[in-house]
This record gives sequence, structure tokens and C-alpha cells, in this order.
Amino acid sequence: MERRELFSSFAKLLRGEERQLPTYPPYFSDEADFQRCRECDDTPCVKACEEGIIEIVDGVPSLDFFKSGCTFCDQCALTCPLQVLRVDAKRSLPPLAIDPIGCLAWHGTICSSCRDACLDQAIEFTGLFQPQIIAQKCTGCGFCVGVCPTKAIGR
Ligand code: SF4
Ligand code: SF4
Ligand code: SF4
Repeated sequence: MERRELFSSFAKLLRGEERQLPTYPPYFSDEADFQRCRECDDTPCVKACEEGIIEIVDGVPSLDFFKSGCTFCDQCALTCPLQVLRVDAKRSLPPLAIDPIGCLAWHGTICSSCRDACLDQAIEFTGLFQPQIIAQKCTGCGFCVGVCPTKAIGR
């Protein structure tokens, strides 16, 4: 087993399960509207996403931050034929958080992969080993999620 897989398994073991990130694209006013996505045959939002992070889960679009993050580029909303996603409903995504139980740094290993990936400088370290996401700065873009070797970032 590679070192990274070992860390990941260790973190999952400590947490009991892998953290889930059900996240809608950031262009809606009411979550109930996503039920109409089940009538959308071509799901053009999936093809429109430059980051390739939209997947259809149980008939509705969900963002997979383990692939990449959201650039808030509007393209998914611009291509939505049913107006479930609308540019005028653009919003930030819920802020994420670091789970200290799974984080390498919190266990004394030098790692700053998440901070390096965050363009909003929303991840701050106390000393070398205690990273935290500052919720007021975090756009919820998800770019820090996939770079974390132990999958310690979620909600
Ligand atoms: S805003 Fe852009 S990057 Fe974000 S989910 Fe929509 S198409 Fe993808
Ligand atoms: S990427 Fe960030 S959250 Fe993940 S192990 Fe490294 S310091 Fe911790
Ligand atoms: S901490 Fe930074 S990279 Fe992670 S979701 Fe928040 S803004 Fe995006």
C-alpha cells in the first residue's frame, strides 16, 4: 500500500466513514427546484462544466470536489434548459471545514496542500500544524478538497 493510501485508510478508519459532500451547482434559489432535473434528458450542465465536476446523482446535478473545484463561471446556469440553474440566482457555496482527526498537519506531519490550493487565502495555520478554514473567507469552491491526501476536508 502506498503512503498516501495508508494515510487515507487511517483517516477513514478514525472517522468511521468517508465524508460526504452533496453539493448543488451555485445557481439556485430553492433546492426543491432540482426535482425538475429528472425531466432533463440531455443534462447540458454536465457537458458545460469546464472543470468536469458536475455529475448526475439520483437524477439531480451534484458537484464532485474530488475531481476539481468550481470557478463560478456561470456556464452550467447558461445552458440549463429548465431554468433550474439561473445566473440571477448565483450564490456562494457553503463553507468547508478541516476535520482535525483526519488532517496530517494536526497530527504533526508537515502538509499545506489545501492552503496552497486556496486562491482566497481562506486557510490559515496556527503555527505549523493547525490549519483551519476561515468560514468568512471561504467561497465553498472546493479546490482544497481533492488535493488533501487524507480527504480531511468536507462539511
Ligand atoms: S459554475 Fe462553472 S465550474 Fe462551477 S459547476 Fe457550473 S460550470 Fe462547473
Ligand atoms: S491538505 Fe490540509 S487538511 Fe489535508 S492533511 Fe494537509 S494540511 Fe490537513
Ligand atoms: S478553503 Fe479555499 S479552496 Fe477550500 S473551499 Fe474554501 S475558498 Fe475554496
